[in-house]
Amino acid sequence: MSGAIGVTVLGSTGSVGVSTLDVLARHPDRYRVFALTAHRNHEKLFAQCLEHEPEYAVMVREDAAESLRAALREAGSQTEVLAGAESLAMVAAHEDTQYVMAAIVGAAGLLPTLAAAEAGKRVMLANKEALVMSGQIFMDAVSRSGAELLPIDSEHNAIFQCMPGDFARGFDEVGVRGILLTASGGPFRTLPLDQFASVTPAQAVAHPNWDMGRKISVDSATMMNKGLEVIEACWLFGTDVEHVQVVLHPQSVVHSMVQYTDGSVLAQLGNPDMRTPIAHCLAWPERIESGVADLDVFKMARLDFEEPDLARFPCLRLAYEARRAGGIMSTALNAANEVAVEAFLDHGMDFPGIPAVIEAVLGETINAPADDLDAILSADAVARERAQRQVSLRKG
Ligand code: NDP
Repeated sequence: MSGAIGVTVLGSTGSVGVSTLDVLARHPDRYRVFALTAHRNHEKLFAQCLEHEPEYAVMVREDAAESLRAALREAGSQTEVLAGAESLAMVAAHEDTQYVMAAIVGAAGLLPTLAAAEAGKRVMLANKEALVMSGQIFMDAVSRSGAELLPIDSEHNAIFQCMPGDFARGFDEVGVRGILLTASGGPFRTLPLDQFASVTPAQAVAHPNWDMGRKISVDSATMMNKGLEVIEACWLFGTDVEHVQVVLHPQSVVHSMVQYTDGSVLAQLGNPDMRTPIAHCLAWPERIESGVADLDVFKMARLDFEEPDLARFPCLRLAYEARRAGGIMSTALNAANEVAVEAFLDHGMDFPGIPAVIEAVLGETINAPADDLDAILSADAVARERAQRQVSLRKG
């Protein structure tokens, strides 16, 4: 086996997964693809297996795994195909992989991402929902195993780049006043409020600056994405919501900032392309080519910054409230959001139904400690049931 670092890409057929493979392919001497995983898209995984020749390919769905296995056998590929959600955790924790890209969307990413953390891997975290659901358990697993947790979300990656290396000692200790978390405001930043009820899924997934998967695109349109990111930032950087200020920045060039006690503000800038944070996490603490074009500062006409309007974006308010409440509230928030977004995208619920469903579920949730995985998984399941009921009521 070569000296190249083994990388598992969980969710390789998605938007972040594809960008990850693009960066990996630029550095074949440095990295080798150990395992690729997908849910059902066996055609795309087939093409990725032929190109990257991983040792394992995992399809969560048994029927899709069977199709992939047959196609790879026919093509003479050596890749071994595994099926089922348990196999995700196996390839994430395998001794022949050192790095794991956690790019499955939603709660489905929790168990394999946690398995990578428990096995002490370099965990490159795109799957923010895993951290929102189970922050304490996840961070405890990281510190127990000595895993390296590096943020892929462009904002958190920017914050990580602007923070002092010893930020874990505490903000006061290292002279950090707080985080300025930038947000584009999504496609509806200026839409008249009375038009929100007629927003279609196609409009909601058409993000002005970023090309992303459907769920995160809707999350950006409601600004729940920013709410989840506020919670993610609290866990990653060991702080509370009072030290995380969301800043609307429509151009998405400043990816976030850190404010210091001496009046300095450090920012990270770049073109909106996920290959930059991906390359940063792969190579950290070194730097490698990502394929992203250099930022042309002369073409950057202007950089605007505004305060977010919580009446326009109730999801952001709900995320702040859930984080302040602690316990299982963030788990319930995330679960209700996943159900509500799916209802909007695939089952005809209206766009304002998303915050309405989440608010109703949080109202019904009796808070409890989120100190073990069973408590998290049960809070997730109960919140999903409640959200489904709310969706049915909403659709009448
Ligand atoms: P996509 O929807 O594009 O891709 C999701 C990936 O997860 C696909 O490989 C999909 O497989 C797989 N998947 C879906 N459901 C399951 C399941 N139940 N079990 C196992 N695998 C599953 O998502 P994105 O790439 O946009 O986002 C991935 C994560 O990264 C999200 O958590 C998102 O918030 C985060 N993120 C994304 C950014 C972006 O620019 N896209 C930026 C920052 C963070 P299949 O193709 O077979 O369905």
